[in-house]
Amino acid sequence: MLIVQKYGGTSVGSIERIQAVAKRVEKAVMRGDRVVVVVSAMSGETNKLIDMATRVSKTPAAREMDMLLSSGERVTCALTAIALKELGLEAIALTGRQAGIVTDSTHTKARIEEIPSEPVTKHIKEGKIVVVAGFQGATRNGEVTTLGRGGSDLTAVAIAGAIKADLCEIYTDVDGVYTTDPRVEEKARKLDRVSYDEMLELASLGAKVLQNRSVELAKKLQVKVVTRSSFNENEGTLITSEEECMEKPIVSGIALDKNQARCSLIGVADRPGIAAEIFETLASTAINVDMIVQTVGQDGKTNMDFTVPSTELEQAKRALSGFANAQEFDDQVCKVSIVGVGMKSHSGVAARMFSSLAKENINILMISTSEIKISVVIARKYGELAVRILHAAYELDK
Ligand code: ADP
Ligand code: ASP
Ligand code: MG
Repeated sequence: MLIVQKYGGTSVGSIERIQAVAKRVEKAVMRGDRVVVVVSAMSGETNKLIDMATRVSKTPAAREMDMLLSSGERVTCALTAIALKELGLEAIALTGRQAGIVTDSTHTKARIEEIPSEPVTKHIKEGKIVVVAGFQGATRNGEVTTLGRGGSDLTAVAIAGAIKADLCEIYTDVDGVYTTDPRVEEKARKLDRVSYDEMLELASLGAKVLQNRSVELAKKLQVKVVTRSSFNENEGTLITSEEECMEKPIVSGIALDKNQARCSLIGVADRPGIAAEIFETLASTAINVDMIVQTVGQDGKTNMDFTVPSTELEQAKRALSGFANAQEFDDQVCKVSIVGVGMKSHSGVAARMFSSLAKENINILMISTSEIKISVVIARKYGELAVRILHAAYELDK
């Protein structure tokens, strides 16, 4: 088999861990598999680099941030290849650019435009284990870019797609995808299979076990993804098409996103084109807007509420100045979501969510739904409690 194995931050968090990863790769090679390894930076490293930059400047330039952040993955990539060679295996370390990953120029959250397979396959053909630095690429002009937080997952899926790998294994510090974050609810249960669509919702709504864009790409390229632990041999979770998921539970999982802030524009001119102006302004600075609520207008004025990632709140405030009579920003909110393909064909799912929260006196600030998910915005201090309440309400521990 041709396998891409991606190792996350904790899996390569120390020299000993990198040596353990090399051993695991060796095992696969001994089985007869050909392996491409993608690595993240050591756990905490990317945050440390961001922290250093923000101590130098409150608004560090995105281009230079990419130069800085891409360095973390280079370290583990080189060390992993060195560890493999030490075991007597043939290995070569490649940066994202050397692996052929071409992106657009949206620094710090660049989109992959193209990956030719040849830069990686030529080394595989020579019998080498290719080790690729995750999370990074380069523009056509050779500018270094990064792919957004958690972006090594995207590197792995993209390469798996490009080289037509049989399997993409995402190694992390939990046994797979659970009904909710096992660090929030210890009764969370590991799922054997999750559909691409459910996983995409869970990842987009805060379950960082997989980066959402990696799931989107896996679905598009039909890459078979398995999430599992690098600390044991347990079987992980297969992310696959809905047809291959036998059970279609009403609620498969619950996600919590604490990186949310609410923006309220009060007294916006109620005329055609105003929403377009506001959201085009935000889009032009690549701010991700979610959960938009517009209230019924009165006297030619209306109110517009929406959420943005709290890490983009300052940017949003700057972009929005001048759009309304008054503006309010609430940085102390979070988003809790229930996800499940079975929702499509069941009623009363939302009612149960709202009544379970009401019983605990948790006030809902905003609601949004799609075919397979319901999200609410609530005060951040109740986020974890809400997850546990809903986990029990939908009997996910059973
Ligand atoms: P890595 O560094 O390996 O990429 P991450 O920290 O990005 O790992 O993602 C793994 C973490 O995701 C877990 O430690 C867990 O706390 C968290 N997590 C959140 N939601 C879930 C979920 N539904 N299932 C499993 N893990 C989850
Ligand atoms: N090191 C990057 C991050 O922390 C990318 C990754 O881990 O996937 O976001
Ligand atoms: Mg991750």
